[in-house]
Amino acid sequence: MKIDFANLKKAHLEHKAEVEEAVLRICRNANYIMGDEVESLEQELAEFTNSKYAITCSSGSSALLLALMALDLKAGDEVITTPFTFIATAEMIALLGIKPVFVDISLEDYNLDCDLVKNAITPKTKAILAVSLYGQPPNIEKLEQICKKENLKLIIDGAQSFGSEFHQKKDSSLGTIATTSFFPAKPLGCYGDGGAVFTQEESLAKKIASLRLHGQKVRYIHQYIGIGGRLDAIQAAILRIKLRSFAQDIARRNQVAKTYDKYLRGSNVILPKVLEGRKSVFAQYTIRTQKREALQEKLKQNGIPSAIHYPLGLHLQECFANLGYKKGDFPNTELASAEVLSLPMNPYLSESEIKTIAQVILDKGE
Ligand SMILES: *Cc1c(COP(=O)(O)O)cnc(C)c1O
Repeated sequence: MKIDFANLKKAHLEHKAEVEEAVLRICRNANYIMGDEVESLEQELAEFTNSKYAITCSSGSSALLLALMALDLKAGDEVITTPFTFIATAEMIALLGIKPVFVDISLEDYNLDCDLVKNAITPKTKAILAVSLYGQPPNIEKLEQICKKENLKLIIDGAQSFGSEFHQKKDSSLGTIATTSFFPAKPLGCYGDGGAVFTQEESLAKKIASLRLHGQKVRYIHQYIGIGGRLDAIQAAILRIKLRSFAQDIARRNQVAKTYDKYLRGSNVILPKVLEGRKSVFAQYTIRTQKREALQEKLKQNGIPSAIHYPLGLHLQECFANLGYKKGDFPNTELASAEVLSLPMNPYLSESEIKTIAQVILDKGE
């Protein structure tokens, strides 16, 4: 038996007829950039997330860049973020000359430890960029309180969490600006790169939409320094099709997680927790074990793929050496990077596949 990690081939088969028809239609019409598909998708994304504005863009990374640019953050400013995330989160901050200031995570949900955030605030702090890691939002209520008190902006990097909720509200609808990614392996994936930015403020929405089109006001008249950051029509059409049944994908991912929980209960690995008031979309099902290397090898021998999200905290990455952090600065991040292991996760994993994976893990005499 061969188990697939994200099973993108099966995802295509689910929507094959519709997707192939749409792609062919766009090829024949030759309307590749922006246009009706993109506009319709933006409306549907806004409806799905209960956000006033959704602006699509070329990736989750460009979504972050657009968010930071729209808030006028620039060189000399500081943005507080987590060191336990994909590089893009802090990379986009640094790309604008802004200083990423890392704060350690909580081992409960692997998200920013909100109680530590306050200690990192300086007069230069302009925003908190929080990540909804593995598909689960951080404690957005606490972060909002801090931001309100300290007059900071809150950006939510929801690249892994599209569709997730904090107290019944989609994480995309919270914060000053929220972002997401439609990279193929994210919960709502397109067939290439894509992303979106969400906000409830009209002025920000207008600015983001303009920044995405080289800061233009009208064609060839430019108000801001922006980027070429559009989503293309083919990706938009595919996302519209997949969005229609996305609620079902989320339900299935949660069912897969529950089934993992059931079969792994009683093992020595630490299971992921969904905290009170949160709904996760389980972008990943990530366990923790001190015997990660041996377990990963054993899974591999049994034809079961696994992945490490992420093996090195951002504070210890070479590209951030100039920030002056050192080993020991963020113990929870360092422990998590040494012990986390993501198991296959997609909406199509069967109970018997999950049982097989769990048996390999339990067999270890863990
Ligand atoms: C994937 C990811 C991104 C970047 O998204 P892309 O679409 O690949 O550019 C940013 N932040 C986090 C947390 C991610 O997981």
